[in-house]
This record gives sequence, C-alpha cells and structure tokens, in this order.
Amino acid sequence: MQHGFEESLTSPNFRFIGGVALGTEGGIPVDVLSRYYDGIIFAYGAAKSRKLGIPGEELQGIYPSGDFVGWYNGLPSHRHHRFNLQGENAVIIGHGNVALDVARILLTPPSVLAKTDITNFALEKLEQSRVKNVYVVGRRGVLQASFTVKELRELTNIPNVMFDTTLPDDLPDPKKLPRIQQRIVQLLKKAPFTPEQLGKTCKIEFLLSPIQFNGSQKHVESVIFQKQRLLDPLNPASKIEATGESIEMNADMVFTSIGYTALPLHGMSRLGPGIDLVRGIIPNVNGHVHTTATKDFGYVTRDAAMTESVPGVYVSGWVKTGPTGVIATTMYSAFETGDTLVTDWNEGKQFLQPTAEVKGWDGFKSEVTSRGSIPVEWSGWKNIESEEFRRGEAVGKEREKIVDVQEMMDFVST
Ligand code: NAP
Repeated sequence: MQHGFEESLTSPNFRFIGGVALGTEGGIPVDVLSRYYDGIIFAYGAAKSRKLGIPGEELQGIYPSGDFVGWYNGLPSHRHHRFNLQGENAVIIGHGNVALDVARILLTPPSVLAKTDITNFALEKLEQSRVKNVYVVGRRGVLQASFTVKELRELTNIPNVMFDTTLPDDLPDPKKLPRIQQRIVQLLKKAPFTPEQLGKTCKIEFLLSPIQFNGSQKHVESVIFQKQRLLDPLNPASKIEATGESIEMNADMVFTSIGYTALPLHGMSRLGPGIDLVRGIIPNVNGHVHTTATKDFGYVTRDAAMTESVPGVYVSGWVKTGPTGVIATTMYSAFETGDTLVTDWNEGKQFLQPTAEVKGWDGFKSEVTSRGSIPVEWSGWKNIESEEFRRGEAVGKEREKIVDVQEMMDFVST
C-alpha cells in the first residue's frame, strides 16, 4: 500500500467503515443514507457475471469466471463454490483479461501459486487438478480481442506449458497495426512456445462463437461453436457473421468469461425518480447520476436521453463505466467523479437534504447498530490485516486471507 494512500485513510476527513451491508438482501436500503449525508457515491462495481443464454448452460461443470476468480481470491461470498477440476480439457469462453487470468491459474504450477496470496483451499484444490489442456476461445479475431499485452505475455511464460494458437488466415501485416495490436500479433505469431519439459497446453482460438453445450448425466462434455468471419477485419469494432460451419470441442469443464454487469441496490430508486441501471451501469454525466428518458420513435442522442441530474448522487468504478479498463483507468475515472462532486459543491448546487437530528456517521452509526450490524472502523480492519500477514508469514506467503466474516470479526478488537 502506498504511503500517501495510507495517510489519507487516517485523515480526519476520511472515515473507513466496514461490516455494514447496504442495499443487499437483509441489508440497510441505500436511501436511508440520505437522512444522514449530503451526498452518496455509488462505487460498488459490476459483480454479476453475464450469461451466454444458450442451450445447455445449466449443465454441471460450466462455471461463470467471476465465481472462480472470487473463489481463488478469497471473497467470503465465494468460498463455498465448488469446482470439479478432475477432467483434462478446460474451455474458457471469452478473450478478455479475466479469461487469461483463469487460464493462468489453471496452468501455473501450484508451487509457484503457493508464494502468492491465493487462498489455501484453492491451492489445495489446484494441486489435485487434472487439467492438461486449456482452450481460450473468442468469437472475434486477434485485433478484436480485449486482452492486453502484459497479461498475454504472462500466459506465454508459464513454465512447462506449451502455448499455441490458431491464427485466422487473413491476419494483416503487424507493421500496419497500432502499437498494442502489433505487439499482440507478434506475440501470438511466435507460438508455439514449446518448453523443454511438457506438462500442459494452452491454445488460443479465434472466430468461434458458442451456440450450445452438450453433456450427459447432467455434466458438460462438449461445446458446439459456430465458425465466424469478420466483416471488417482491420477494425477493432468489426462485427462478425457465421460461416455456416460449426465444430465441437471436448470440454470436461467450461468457464464463461464474457464480462460482468452491475445490479441495482435496494432503496436506490427512492433516491431519485428514474435512477436505475441501464445496460449494467448507472447513467451519469462525468460521474453525476442522471435520470434517463426515451421517446416512442426515432433516435435519442445520449445527451437528450440524460434528462436531469439527481442532486447529491454520484457514481464511480465499473457501476459508472461498465466493466472495462485496468486499475489505472478506473482510478482516473474516480478522480473525474471527485472533481465533479467538488465543483458542484463549490458552485452551491443542490445536494441531498439530510433530515436526521444527528447527521453524518454519528447519527448513521446508531441506525446501523440498531439494525444489528457491527461496524468495523479502520483500526479494526488493520487488526484483521495484521492477522492475515501473521498467518501468511507462518506458511511463507505474503498473506493468508481470512475468508469467513465471523472469523474476521474475532480479530477486530484484539
Ligand atoms: P472483457 O474484456 O469485456 O472481455 C469479454 C470477452 O467476452 C470479449 O472477448 C467478448 O467478445 C466476449 N463475449 C462477450 N459476450 C460474448 C458472447 N455472447 N459470446 C462469446 N463471447 C462473448 O471482460 P473481462 O475479461 O471480464 O474483463 C473486464 C475488465 O477487467 C477488462 O477491462 C479487463 O482488462 C479488466 N481486467 C484487467 C486485469 C488486469 O489488469 N490484469 C485482469 C482482469 C480483468 P467481444 O469483444 O466479441 O464482445
């Protein structure tokens, strides 16, 4: 953690409060905050994995990548997920960085993972994994893939894994491409990378769109893909069309990695008429939440669709932008929201109108505790973190995450 960041967390103008469920089932509806605070920033991301909506998706052995990523990263809500890694062939659908992350975890030797902060139970499961072949399958071409150079290079560098790829025939001369795509094409063109000691294989496949999962005894056995062609091959936004041919790929397990969407929170619509999620985001202008409108006929421009701002309600993170970009992108987007809020405040714009007798945390804390939640302040979180470091040190890792909330709470006031 950076020094400046740590300092800002202990500044009198900042208060960390954990352990309070807001807007979830059984949690405090988010509009309750408006009785105590002048403004709210929703920054809760996009947690729900998108579904393909194709036949057979309910078969066992088909996992949304979000569940897998949350599981090995130790999210308390994901610790009970179970993954059957006993087959040899794993198919990952999607060409984003999450797909590459899943491939990396399935292929990296557990002895290497053991030095990271991966949860112990995931490590144990991965040690027993029989996965040998990982196929990362995208529906468009190389120039349209959304993974990035660093993550692709990491995948090609995993020890004892043969990395290969089936490149589309009409791939352009890399020199004619923008720098990032150039590097991706160069990297892929170098394949196959065959290590001295062959353990597993990783294959990246292009222009294949999944249309059906097949299985027996309720478990997935294969995926049918329709072959695609690009309508405008040099355009990163190119659309595709089916060629009419299809292929069947063996799959003992499938990870669908096709992006995420944000969900609404309880009490959100009471904060302002029309606030709701449109296409997985909260409509906003530079981070200030807007209500949206439509008309019965004709094209509505984005500006015309955004009707009016909702006083005091802002948004940041993936719930603002959709699930795109690396951490730095999200950080700059957060700065924009901060600037918008401060400008609005300095210009005397309308904010929320808190009505509680005691405003701010002092008032809200009573509301929280009267509803049975036990808030965790910054010092409490630091205690949990120290215990995680202590457990990590004992087993030679950076940190061993505590994944049970009740267990975390035992360390809050030590
Ligand atoms: P993503 O980058 O949006 O990739 C989603 C992939 O799913 C795309 O290849 C997309 O193909 C495909 N897809 C969507 N709908 C599909 C369908 N119906 N059938 C077949 N394929 C479909 O999403 P992500 O991988 O979840 O990553 C989200 C964001 O997190 C990205 O910005 C990523 O860079 C970031 N991230 C960063 C890191 C890192 O920095 N190391 C790690 C993980 C994630 P089309 O392009 O054809 O739609």
